[in-house]
Amino acid sequence: MKGCGLCWTEAELALLDGDPALVPDEVVWQFAWEVEDHFEPDEYGPAWRRLAHRVVGLLTEDPDSRLTMGLTWAGFSHWPEAERTALYAQVTDIVLRAASDEERHKDLGELIEAAAQLDQSMVPWLRLVDTLPDEVVEHLAEEWSDCDKASSTFGTWLRWTDPTPQDEVLEWLSTR
Ligand SMILES: [Zn+2]
Repeated sequence: MKGCGLCWTEAELALLDGDPALVPDEVVWQFAWEVEDHFEPDEYGPAWRRLAHRVVGLLTEDPDSRLTMGLTWAGFSHWPEAERTALYAQVTDIVLRAASDEERHKDLGELIEAAAQLDQSMVPWLRLVDTLPDEVVEHLAEEWSDCDKASSTFGTWLRWTDPTPQDEVLEWLSTR
């Protein structure tokens, strides 16, 4: 695939075109948070679809909402149904596994932000949070309690508006 010459070497672009299993983690990372117009629009979506399960692997190991921020530009809402469903299932599984492991509760907020990039909405994931054990819900409510303050890191990479991710979380907090 083609990519901007400032960010990408020919060797890295060749890797992105090849077997997804052989792309080094750091190249997958770089791909996931590259600015979208540094790739050709008609190549970016197919590349994301090839690498989706690799991004999921990174998300498991290193929760970061930047990993999924390219999904909108990758045309996720127009992907084949089976691929959309598969990615939803994988990301949901990551969230649920973190929720069931107390040592990983600190990752949950970031994971849910990453997940919300699939919908460009926090709402479906707040519904999922409502099904989790009380202590998990309490943990997230505490973490998000200052989400609308400048000091909060919540939603840094979430770009939707009207309502904003902060509005969605504040609405959820107000109805608890
Ligand atoms: Zn670039």
